[in-house]
Amino acid sequence: MNLVFLGPPGSGKGTQASMLAKSFGDKAIHLSTGELLRTEINKNSEIGLTVDEYMKAGKLVPDKDIFNIIEQNLSFYTEAEILIFDGFPRTLAQALRLEEIFLQKELKIDIVFNFLIDKNTLVKRVCGRFSCKNCGLGYNIYSNPTMIEGVCDSCGSGSFVKRLDDNETIFGDRLSVYEDLTFPLVDFYQKKGLLFSIKADIDPKAIFKEIHGVISDYKYKKRG
Ligand code: AMP
Repeated sequence: MNLVFLGPPGSGKGTQASMLAKSFGDKAIHLSTGELLRTEINKNSEIGLTVDEYMKAGKLVPDKDIFNIIEQNLSFYTEAEILIFDGFPRTLAQALRLEEIFLQKELKIDIVFNFLIDKNTLVKRVCGRFSCKNCGLGYNIYSNPTMIEGVCDSCGSGSFVKRLDDNETIFGDRLSVYEDLTFPLVDFYQKKGLLFSIKADIDPKAIFKEIHGVISDYKYKKRG
């Protein structure tokens, strides 16, 4: 089963993709292009050096770099029983290329989850988020601060990190990029009958339950 999680930055698609992949254990792969790119940047690889500037500026990385990175491990990804694309495709060109690749491999996209959320909620979510440098636990200065200021609730560390692209100026640019280049995919997948929209400003556990329910129904109908 191949799933696409589509939505603006900060809509929670990464969190949901990760929760879903964990719930399926070894059967699932969570493919986050943002994470793959950040890993390349941390490794100082050639591709990492190329994409760094785009990411810092809140722009999309060129399609060719995205495909370079995905195609490196494509067979591994497509062999997964459940493949969850998070943050990909992000342009019409990427969506069309994915269709081509899938056609060659006799695969198809099963469901596209479209995360719906308003702009103000997004700004607070994204610009307020940070995580513990030591254990990775995530926080938000508005909605989920540490219990003691400056101390991680889980490991007691006093070191925190924030993504460089999670500031209001760059976030505004990322949102415009989403509206101009990614939002058209909503219509693209709607016309193909693959789109399932979910309200993404509710409790993450409720969203997770809804996604799980949609997947179970889909599997049931396929069997029937
Ligand atoms: P994310 O972690 O999904 O919010 O992505 C962070 C950044 O990585 C984006 O703002 C883009 O610069 C880049 N990026 C991630 N996925 C893609 C993609 N499919 N196409 C182009 N750029 C991407």
